[in-house]
Amino acid sequence: MIEIKDKRMCSGCTACHSVCPKRCITMEMDEEGYLYPVVDKATCINCRLCEKVCPISKEVPLNNYVPQAFAVQNKNEQIRRQSASGGAFTAFADYVIEKGGYVFGGAFDESLGVRHIGVDNKTDLAKLRCSKYVQSNLEGCFPKVKELLKKGKLVLFSGTPCQVNGVKSYLRKEYSNLITLDLVCRGTPSPGLWRSYIDWYKSRHRVELSLVSFRDKPFGYAGSTMSIKDENGNIKYTTRDVQFFKKVFFADINNRPSCFACHFKSVKRNSDLTLYDCWHMNKIDASLDDDKGSTWVIIQSERGKQLFEKVADKIRFCHAEVSTAIELDGDMATECPVPSPMRTQFFRDYRALSFEELVNKYSPKSFKSIFIGFMKPIMHKLGVLNTIKRLIK
Ligand SMILES: Cc1cc2nc3c(=O)[nH]c(=O)nc-3n(C[C@H](O)[C@H](O)[C@H](O)COP(=O)(O)OP(=O)(O)OC[C@H]3O[C@@H](n4cnc5c(N)ncnc54)[C@H](O)[C@@H]3O)c2cc1C
Ligand code: SF4
Ligand code: SF4
Ligand code: SF4
Repeated sequence: MIEIKDKRMCSGCTACHSVCPKRCITMEMDEEGYLYPVVDKATCINCRLCEKVCPISKEVPLNNYVPQAFAVQNKNEQIRRQSASGGAFTAFADYVIEKGGYVFGGAFDESLGVRHIGVDNKTDLAKLRCSKYVQSNLEGCFPKVKELLKKGKLVLFSGTPCQVNGVKSYLRKEYSNLITLDLVCRGTPSPGLWRSYIDWYKSRHRVELSLVSFRDKPFGYAGSTMSIKDENGNIKYTTRDVQFFKKVFFADINNRPSCFACHFKSVKRNSDLTLYDCWHMNKIDASLDDDKGSTWVIIQSERGKQLFEKVADKIRFCHAEVSTAIELDGDMATECPVPSPMRTQFFRDYRALSFEELVNKYSPKSFKSIFIGFMKPIMHKLGVLNTIKRLIK
């Protein structure tokens, strides 16, 4: 049976939880706010299915397709505005929905927790759009994917590489009606910490929240802005340098332990398509460099290529060498983040301090942070923010 002795060896994909014939594996939150499988030994029959489906203990199976890279922008400007980068995901997802299929991906629930859901229409697809920098809860998702595949439905499953490997390993056979799309990811922040953050924010500002975007674009793509909309329609914009939750994520404090020893980092993947941010459109086609967002799409299989061709009239795209796409923006495709030396103390403080004290300790209001927050909109208006970001990167 599954037993987590080293937390770096569990990405929380839920394959073991989903496959257990006795339903004796529950996903339980640890003291850092991440979900891990816990076995009820009294009901376990020791069939070891959970061990067999765990993708972390296996070689990642790869096909022979030679990857190709494209910098992509969705031609629908509203969709591009709502997407983290260039809206490539929605172009692929729209096609699947138009064919009567289902798309699975990370969405906010009513209380702003993040979980994987499946949708079959374009209205609900909006829930999947844009990156949520919180580990999504997959409980119940894989059996739904399997059920739809068995019914012959076309399914697009999207998520982080560990999630894509999790669902494929859980399915235990190839389905010709399954398309998988993974992201290049730095890692995933703690759902427990996110819940505490949302509760703290609501009580501090005495409001209910209606919408959060981790990657809003009021100051352009380069602005990398988080927006929080309350029940009264007021929107608060903060940049990643001053926003507590994003700040501790990008400082490699708030990441799941498995992300620091990720088993799924590579250019060649076992998904059909790999997506990530294209910050350097100026080096690919300067005429498309409009600071509204572009996505790198790496085609990983014949199926991925066919889907790309089907949506070609919905996107603008430029071919690039895969090595160029990786060199310019894809460091996280192959490299793991290095845990911050402050990480252990941070989670100790998370348990010991009030949330207000935690925020003040790890995201103190300094002259520098206030200045950056103040200057970003101005630099965006002057049209220099994009250039400065590329110089710093
Ligand atoms: C946690 C996380 C970390 C990332 N880290 C990086 C990085 O280091 N470098 C980089 O270049 N790009 C990273 N990305 C990818 C990037 O932010 C964009 O998602 C990608 O460029 C695709 O953008 P898009 O505009 O085409 O589509 P979008 O509409 O922005 O993307 C939507 C896609 O994101 C998925 N998604 C959203 N939230 C989650 C979640 N919590 N868990 C799983 N899937 C989710 C949806 O299922 C859907 O497939 C990360 C994304 C996530 C979710
Ligand atoms: S060994 Fe079998 S019964 Fe026991 S937890 Fe694993 S899958 Fe469930
Ligand atoms: S990685 Fe997935 S399958 Fe393996 S133990 Fe963790 S949740 Fe279970
Ligand atoms: S870094 Fe690896 S373990 Fe972490 S979310 Fe991404 S694929 Fe999963």
